[in-house]
Amino acid sequence: MAKQPIESLNATTAATEAADLRVELNQWRQDYYDNDAPKVEDDVYDREYARLVALETAFPTIVTPDSPTQLVGGTVKAGFTKVQHPIPMLSLGDVFSQGELQEFDERLRQNVDEPFDYNCELKIDGLALSLRYENGRLIQGSTRGNGTIGEDITKNIMTIASIPHQLKRPLTVEVRGECYMPKAAFADLNARREAAGEPVFANPRNAAAGSLRQLDTKVTAERQLSTFMYNVADYAPLTARTQSDMLTEFADLGLTINPDFKVAHSMTEVFDYIDHYQHERPDLAYGIDGIVIKANPLPLQRSLGATVKVPRWAIAFKFPPDEQPTLLEDVEWTV
Ligand code: NAD
Repeated sequence: MAKQPIESLNATTAATEAADLRVELNQWRQDYYDNDAPKVEDDVYDREYARLVALETAFPTIVTPDSPTQLVGGTVKAGFTKVQHPIPMLSLGDVFSQGELQEFDERLRQNVDEPFDYNCELKIDGLALSLRYENGRLIQGSTRGNGTIGEDITKNIMTIASIPHQLKRPLTVEVRGECYMPKAAFADLNARREAAGEPVFANPRNAAAGSLRQLDTKVTAERQLSTFMYNVADYAPLTARTQSDMLTEFADLGLTINPDFKVAHSMTEVFDYIDHYQHERPDLAYGIDGIVIKANPLPLQRSLGATVKVPRWAIAFKFPPDEQPTLLEDVEWTV
């Protein structure tokens, strides 16, 4: 049914519509984050979410604490030990057009006195993970979970070849990034499952999440997962003081990074980066669902901080939906 224009609503009718949207979105979130089994395509979710944001922006008094606009991710899966993230693992704000991206840039620059560059990165379609190193030794891996409490996946991450057990310097540091399943591994896995009469995975993101969040670590080990690290809980132990130098330092430490990042000195360069990777996207060995721009200086990132859900110093530009296997009502989802 066509939605009513926001201007024609009042606080009561807006609150009713928002309440219905929250029920629908929270159910989809549970399917996606907790069960790794989405029931709708991401763009359907994104459309309904955008409507909820519009309602809550027009009528701020209708926001509730259980609104998906106030929450990060999902819950801890049964059987996993909980890990508290002293520094939360957040989501990202997103935009869908160059105009919205330009507005983000203008808003940000109004609040920042000095000039700064953006670091442009690919938005890897996987799930966030955090790796804790003590004196250079890998001691813990965790999922994002709800942002403050994630799942302990230490045994699982020990089986992933791209994650070093020892850094090249004895740093105590918590690095964060994305775990993903390469397209070829995904196709191979689904082909084998189909041949064995087993249900297939909806997309590489859900295959990665289902494979990482496994109590049987042998399953994780078989699934050919990989990682790109792109963030740090606290940059103090590092030498780098920009996002781009941090990625280079990560690589020097032996961590796997995505090499396709670029410092943009203007929005024109940001838009060129977007155009380039929109064309490259089908040829990449892994799925991306957009690009992320991040204020490059790490002290600026820290001073800008975050809302309850997203950092103020970064934004995702989402690509239109990729061609993916159609979500069928009768697909039997699996982990
Ligand atoms: P998100 O996936 O849109 O963006 C935030 C995440 O991007 C980060 O947590 C991180 O894991 C990831 N990321 C990848 N590359 C990155 C990089 N270079 N730098 C920083 N972060 C990077 O946000 P979200 O809150 O995890 O999920 C929301 C999205 O999930 C929605 O937009 C929707 O598309 C999808 N979703 C779909 C359903 C569904 O039913 N289909 C349900 C819930 C959510």
